[in-house]
Amino acid sequence: MPSDSQSASPRSPGIASLKIHQIEGREWWLWGFAVIVTISLTAGIIFLTFFDHDSAINAQYWTDVKDWVRGLAALVLIFDIYTMYQHRQLQRVRRDLAERDELFQLITENAADMIAVVDAAGNRLYNSPAYQKVLGYSGEELSAGSSVDQIHPSDRERVLQAASKARSSGRGQTLEYRMRHKNGDWRILESTASPIKNGNGKMERLVIVNRDITERKRAEEMLEHRALHDGLTELPNRALFVDRLQHSLIRARRHSDYSFVVLFIDIDGFKVLNDSLGHSAGDELLIQVAKRLAACFRETDTIARSALETNSKLTHDGLARLGGDEFTALLDDVTEPSDAIRIARRILDKIAHPFNIGGQEIVVSASIGIAASSNSYEGADDLLRDAEIAMYRAKRAGKARCEVFDPAMHSSAVRRLKLETDLRRGIEQGELLVYYQPIISLESGKIVGFEALSRWKTVQGMVSPVEFIPVADETGLILPMNRALYLEACQQLQSWQSKLGCSPPLTMSLNITPRQFALPDLAEEIGAILQQSGIPPSTVNLEITETIAMGDADHAFSVLSDLKALGVRLSIDDFGTGYSSLSRLPRFPIDALKIDRVFISQMSSDHDNHEIVRLIVMLAHSLGLKVVAEGTETQEQITELKHLKCEMAQGFLYSPPVDSTQAFELLLSSHRSVTV
Ligand code: C2E
Ligand code: MG
Ligand code: MG
Repeated sequence: MPSDSQSASPRSPGIASLKIHQIEGREWWLWGFAVIVTISLTAGIIFLTFFDHDSAINAQYWTDVKDWVRGLAALVLIFDIYTMYQHRQLQRVRRDLAERDELFQLITENAADMIAVVDAAGNRLYNSPAYQKVLGYSGEELSAGSSVDQIHPSDRERVLQAASKARSSGRGQTLEYRMRHKNGDWRILESTASPIKNGNGKMERLVIVNRDITERKRAEEMLEHRALHDGLTELPNRALFVDRLQHSLIRARRHSDYSFVVLFIDIDGFKVLNDSLGHSAGDELLIQVAKRLAACFRETDTIARSALETNSKLTHDGLARLGGDEFTALLDDVTEPSDAIRIARRILDKIAHPFNIGGQEIVVSASIGIAASSNSYEGADDLLRDAEIAMYRAKRAGKARCEVFDPAMHSSAVRRLKLETDLRRGIEQGELLVYYQPIISLESGKIVGFEALSRWKTVQGMVSPVEFIPVADETGLILPMNRALYLEACQQLQSWQSKLGCSPPLTMSLNITPRQFALPDLAEEIGAILQQSGIPPSTVNLEITETIAMGDADHAFSVLSDLKALGVRLSIDDFGTGYSSLSRLPRFPIDALKIDRVFISQMSSDHDNHEIVRLIVMLAHSLGLKVVAEGTETQEQITELKHLKCEMAQGFLYSPPVDSTQAFELLLSSHRSVTV
């Protein structure tokens, strides 16, 4: 039963109301007719009873009158029976209607859906109790105002249009809109309005059935969100970013004054960090990087206005994670590459601040590639590809920097792809050779060891390791390649040493790349090579560049300790070019520093470089380390290095890297006489 607060249930529309109307009309006629006949009959009877019957009137006349009265009485009886029948029918229809009314109430009162009846002016004539359950309003509260009061302002127009369309067409349509819950929340309703005809056949009232689909909508939104966002960082994923990019490209095509740039951001050495710190720490780092990037972009609007005096800003959700350690950003209204570079540099600065991962301080850097919309791109993927190429260019240029894509970059990327394929083939066909560059003792002037350096001999000529080593490292080809090189170099050393019996024994320096350094079983692998070649471990010198060694301190320390445990010697290569944390040096189990040739080449002409070399030598000696000067090309440099008490030198002055035959000749002459 309806509560007091509910208005009366609406009349059941349609055939039933039409039928009752007809029967009611007919019943009135019948009753009217019966009354007239009854009055006439009564008048006849009175006349016959009270008035004196004139005997002159013949008996036939009276017989006629009696027949007439009898006939009239029979007619009245038939009418009465018919009227009774009509009355019973009316009663049955009314009972049917009452039952339907009750059924309607039962359904509406118990339905989970909210059912309302509104009049032409939008006033609520009936609200089912579900309104209270779903939206928290009582019937009085709802009836007090118009039916549109609780509808979201931006949905109102749509709802009113649908209602008037339902009234005019006689057919309701389903629509979704938001309605305010009493507690202020917005609920999403799926609603169908069906018009009801009044007695004149006009459609004024509407029965509205509303279903609360908020939870379903939320679930749908969640699924959609999941399909378009990265689960780890909650940033948009590749699919969503590509879609946005596509829209921006179309906009740029239509409006010549609109342009944008895409930044491709990649964390330097993330794989190494991830392998060494563990994947959960790697994930945490990515989350923190994402947060920092997002914060950075929130500021970009301000940076853009104040520093660039343009209206550059990150579009909504313009930051995305493509996967792994790759992030992308879309910067709207950036016209000058220099503006994009300024923003990219700011990002690099922010990323360079230490991250706290599980109580451990981690310092990372990023490389950023920039591609601008101006290059008449066909699709989003082309633009992304170019931003990525630019990012790789930044990596090769030394990481922690940004590069802008240009067509020249593109062709260099194509060249690189070819290089990768050729390198695979080259390794299979044995085109990789080992060259040896002697290392000289500055005290004795004799060759004390060699550095093994790769050379790739193709039909077109020699390819520099500067070109193919980074490719080999990124593709993982470096692992089988260097395994073979190390073994060959170690066996070569064994053969020279046994032929010449040098004292102290000759050493062989081997270079280690970032990917090798990240290998969990690097020490085991080197140990196996040492065993296979049969040389004493102390005659092998492993060179690790300063950048690798200064990455993650704990990982570097543990790898270096494992290597040291094999009995090999360890050197920091290209010292002076990376960001050294000098405080770490004493902790590391290293034996020597190799001063980068950049400082050696200018030490005679530039006072600062001379000073740097002097300080590095002093620092190394204070830590009990030996020093090797790389890239020595002049006698003047040698004199100065001797003066600084640098122990060893390597460079074109003595010999460039040469093949094993030439290296043996150098060795022979060095051990026959002192050449320096
Ligand atoms: P690096 O270890 O610093 O090797 C020294 C580089 O300096 C060599 O270049 C050598 O040819 C060059 N060099 C030596 N003396 C002079 C000089 O007086 N002047 C000048 N201008 N350069 C000199 P290369 O052979 O081109 O190797 C470049 C880098 O590639 C190496 O730097 C090393 O890090 C890497 N590399 C080369 N071969 C291998 C390899 O087989 N495995 C690994 N992991 N890395 C390698
Ligand atoms: Mg080296
Ligand atoms: Mg070096």
